[in-house]
Amino acid sequence: MRLRAFAKINLGLDILGKRDDGYHEVRMIMQTIQMYDVLEIQRSKSPGISLVTNLPYVPSDERNLVYKAAKLLMDEFHVEEGLSMRLDKSIPVAAGMAGGSSDAAAAFVGVNRLFGLGLSEQELMNRAVKVGADVPYCIMRGTALAEGIGEKLTWIPQVPRCFVLVGKPGVNVSTKMAYETLKLKSITCHPDIDGMIENIKNGDLYGMVSKMGNVFEPGIIGRYPVIQEIKNLMEANGALKAMMSGSGPTVFGIFDDADKMAAAAAVLRESHLAKTVFATEVYNRNGGFTNDK
Ligand code: ATP
Repeated sequence: MRLRAFAKINLGLDILGKRDDGYHEVRMIMQTIQMYDVLEIQRSKSPGISLVTNLPYVPSDERNLVYKAAKLLMDEFHVEEGLSMRLDKSIPVAAGMAGGSSDAAAAFVGVNRLFGLGLSEQELMNRAVKVGADVPYCIMRGTALAEGIGEKLTWIPQVPRCFVLVGKPGVNVSTKMAYETLKLKSITCHPDIDGMIENIKNGDLYGMVSKMGNVFEPGIIGRYPVIQEIKNLMEANGALKAMMSGSGPTVFGIFDDADKMAAAAAVLRESHLAKTVFATEVYNRNGGFTNDK
């Protein structure tokens, strides 16, 4: 079974406060994009879980979220058979694009189907939060409002068709560090998440883009000015708006025209500001998870 695990961007990211348990209360507009890792899974004769990945620096043992997801389901349903998995990563790692969470989501869906466990999408999502706050969204995909710690999801109609240029600089930002350096009291400018949802419902791409905002940006850009340079380059080359995704450092630019985006991608590649440059578009929820490519 071959599954695509799609990356996400945050069109809006707001943080409302810190809970007593240490987690932050968020309000985010999540959007899947057509950039994906591929997870191949099959039954194996030897019991247990085996995983190989194409990247030497991504763990292939129980620290990998794919492994955690598969093990969680297989333990609960006492699956005695073995599972063999191969993960080919294209989504940049530790980049604010939920790569690991999306891989885990693919593992939930794949194991459920492979062993005929019969769980509904909602039942998978209820278990997925144990692996990570973004994993339920990565099972749902498309456009959504994520609240709570990211696991309370409300479906939103799909965004108007638009093109997305992804630029990941050669620095890594851990989500943990991003939260630790975030000063909640100094957040003076909160993105208008509700206004953005209205724009999306009305199919108003320009209104939506005008409200994009991410409260992580000032702190992370202060440390890594290359993020601002990539934003400036994208906006000078036709992006309606460019913004950091999640806790960074990946920047994405939204374009209303594919040719403009292709030209901006060429300029970004030549600049060497970004290690990964990828031109794509939003992914709306109309495809299946498995055997779909
Ligand atoms: P998010 O947008 O959810 O914050 P991220 O882009 O910051 O995600 P990931 O790419 O998911 O971060 O990975 C962060 C860390 O998790 C990596 O440093 C890696 O060691 C570990 N990890 C575990 N499983 C995976 C996986 N399947 N793919 C990538 N990294 C993984």
